[in-house]
Amino acid sequence: MKQFHVAIDGPAGSGKSTISGLIAKKLNWTHIDTGAMYRAVTLWALNNKIDLNNESEYRFLEKINISYENDQIFLNGINVSIDIRSEEVTNNVSLVSSFPYVRKKMVDLQKKAAENISVVMDGRDIGTVVLPNADLKIFLTANVEERAKRRYAENVQKGKVDHIDNVINDIIVRDEKDSTRKEAPLKKAKDAFELDTTYMTIDEVVNKIILMIEKKENL
Ligand code: C5P
Repeated sequence: MKQFHVAIDGPAGSGKSTISGLIAKKLNWTHIDTGAMYRAVTLWALNNKIDLNNESEYRFLEKINISYENDQIFLNGINVSIDIRSEEVTNNVSLVSSFPYVRKKMVDLQKKAAENISVVMDGRDIGTVVLPNADLKIFLTANVEERAKRRYAENVQKGKVDHIDNVINDIIVRDEKDSTRKEAPLKKAKDAFELDTTYMTIDEVVNKIILMIEKKENL
């Protein structure tokens, strides 16, 4: 069977990563969470105290290794899947991912990772920049209260208690930064199918996208 590329984009907390992971698992395809890659860059930058505002300091990307395998992210071979979810990383990742140099490096890695395999890749610019010829493009949305509720529940599960208003605020600020940046902003690709998941369960979203994939495969 021919390789199949699914691009899933959308704002923070829209469930992209969870849903992409489940679809890939069901189909036995590869899932790549590109947000985790930008988070890993941010983690390295914070740990090594570079000047986050200075694009030339991101040259460290020439010598570090970032890989995403089995829903885990590795930085120089070390699993940093938990560390990349810290508040400090979340608060700085939009700045880090706004630099053209950083984006070029990550986009090259992402394009390479999708070569010759069937993949479900999620992020902000997958349908527009990374996989412009994807076989299926989905733009996942949900209203901000619902997205915050989901993020809040995830945080509680991880033992992190915050006020829901702070979660709403963080999401609004990050979406604003990601949608207004010059380089590859968060944007629905012209040929993407928009799916509002506010009133849908995870299973409903997964099943709906799988049906869309099957339909496309049978064309
Ligand atoms: O998906 P997640 O919320 O973990 O992404 C973290 C951040 O990484 C986003 O807020 C955005 O700044 C950046 N990102 C991006 N392009 C992507 C994926 C994520 O700029 N393709």
